[in-house]
Amino acid sequence: MAVMPVVFVLGRPGSGKGTQSAKLADEFNFVHLSAGELLRKELKDETEVAGILKTHFAKGLMAPSEITCNLLLSEMENEKKLFLIDGFPVDMDNLKMWETLSKGNVDLKSVLLLECAESVSKQRILARSETSNRSDDNLESLSRRFEYFTKHTKPVIDFYAKAGKLQIVDANNSVETVFNELCKIISEIQ
Ligand code: ADP
Ligand code: MG
Repeated sequence: MAVMPVVFVLGRPGSGKGTQSAKLADEFNFVHLSAGELLRKELKDETEVAGILKTHFAKGLMAPSEITCNLLLSEMENEKKLFLIDGFPVDMDNLKMWETLSKGNVDLKSVLLLECAESVSKQRILARSETSNRSDDNLESLSRRFEYFTKHTKPVIDFYAKAGKLQIVDANNSVETVFNELCKIISEIQ
């Protein structure tokens, strides 16, 4: 397997990871992979991992790291473009599994952090809930997901900051302002 260039996109729920990753993929001809969307697709298609995912989600747990990593890695076979991976790694367990399963095959170019106030992202998610059909777009799930971000994703962010990989963008601004800032960063790291 060839070495695959990767950029992770992190940020609390509603910070705009999906929105910005789709726009960046379009602009720079990257492949956009959303960990959450890949997992939700397994459920919808009732694949062999759907049962275990359903059990985890029903308990408010994250998907097992091995399933998430393997879904991502299987999407990355035979592609040479840069992969923009949105919403991953969500915790240190994800990160360690990723390092184990992708060993030597990934060139992590950067980790983009969309930094967004809790109040701002909460408003966005509540607006999104009107059309998203996502079972977790409600106030109760949201506070659990925010707490998960603070407890478990922040250590991942700290890890990449120490590794010199982290680039932070103010995601409280408009879609276009955030996008322009991300484009500048991406142009420099390519
Ligand atoms: P995430 O993937 O980080 O959870 P999304 O990209 O799904 O976030 O964005 C959450 C909601 O907020 C969506 O409905 C999206 O259209 C909207 N949104 C995203 N970025 C902005 C922004 N900068 N300003 C206003 N609304 C935004
Ligand atoms: Mg998303």
